[in-house]
Amino acid sequence: MNRFEEFTTSIVQHIGKKEGPISPVIVNSASFGYGSSESGEGIFEGSVKKPLYARVGNPTSAQLEQLLAQMDGGIGAVAASSGMGAIAMATLSLLKAGDEIISIGGLFGGTYSYFSETLTRFGITTHFFDVDELDAIEEAINTATKILFLESVGNPNMRLPDIAKIAAIAKTHGVVLMVDNTITPLSVAPITLGADIVVYSTTKIITGNASALGGAVIFRAINEGDDKFKEDRYRDIHPFINKMGSMALIANAKKRALRDFGMSANGFGSYLTMLGLETLPLRMDRIVSTVEAVAKGLSARGLSVNHPCLAHHPHHERYKSQFSNGCGTILTIDLGSKERAFEFLNHSKLITITANIGDNRTLGLHMASTIYRDFNDQTKEFLGITPGLVRISIGLESAEAIIDDFSNAAKI
Ligand SMILES: *Cc1c(COP(=O)(O)O)cnc(C)c1O
Repeated sequence: MNRFEEFTTSIVQHIGKKEGPISPVIVNSASFGYGSSESGEGIFEGSVKKPLYARVGNPTSAQLEQLLAQMDGGIGAVAASSGMGAIAMATLSLLKAGDEIISIGGLFGGTYSYFSETLTRFGITTHFFDVDELDAIEEAINTATKILFLESVGNPNMRLPDIAKIAAIAKTHGVVLMVDNTITPLSVAPITLGADIVVYSTTKIITGNASALGGAVIFRAINEGDDKFKEDRYRDIHPFINKMGSMALIANAKKRALRDFGMSANGFGSYLTMLGLETLPLRMDRIVSTVEAVAKGLSARGLSVNHPCLAHHPHHERYKSQFSNGCGTILTIDLGSKERAFEFLNHSKLITITANIGDNRTLGLHMASTIYRDFNDQTKEFLGITPGLVRISIGLESAEAIIDDFSNAAKI
């Protein structure tokens, strides 16, 4: 059974209750009555498992957190107000001034500016590498390195990391591997491959219909014996390990980031996200095969398509051996110039022009004039942004309809 088939069964079974309301119950209260002072004391102490205040936890979001943790084999998850909120939560819960991040592959524009501009203001340095610069990555690790950060698929350069190999480097050096799996939920299982923390923008394919902004962080359990988090590099986490054991990373994220920065998910958003999640395995299964059909079809008609399912792609072998469930909804097309790219997008009848990805509809955007407009030439080259580059996120439409529409729009 492939992963899509497996989760088609488990996700719907875990969302619906056999008795009472089948659709998840939306709790949107900002605060919760404790009933008695004793119960209030227990809630704050942690011995009474009841909601404390919506900034640090919401019952509807808790159901979503459980589903996402189960999907990725984590011990728990914390939902966030957005994908950037999730990335901020996951990183800020581990970092202090003087620390360093090693960022590999990618990189989503928001994450790039968060690392290169915002965190720099707080004394945190990020070193950026391509997915295949393994020796340089290993050399860059030092005692200040707290996080190896990785995107499961380069967006929009479509380069694929060897996640297991990078996880092995992280293990050898006792450094945390954090994976942004936004583009490949279910297709890639980062914790199984050796990642410690997984972050998502649930805004994208998990919800799938632009109805809710959201994010989530999934944490693995702290091991009973040796564990990299028990080493000196992560001594700030040790009080949480002593108190919470295997669940320490959840408590750490809630107290060190969620409580103090407040990037919290809301009940209604989490409800909409669960409605999307119910059909995620079916949608992913369909879209990853449509992406391949479209990439191959358009490439055969002479368009310059970038996707690792194509034989000339530098990571084609890696795609076949390590990404057997596909690598998400994205492909790119280089139309040669800004003018031709604009013409293509404006002539397509199916494409919705927007900065989003992972929707039920096919979306498209010219990269250099939008998300990457403020980036200098050197950074654009590193990120693979050429003047005619259009990023496409394939939706649920038929492959044939998309190929016809794109061929007309590109006048081929
Ligand atoms: C969209 C996206 C984010 C940010 O998510 P938001 O929900 O928009 O804050 C982070 N990483 C990747 C890979 C994304 O595509």
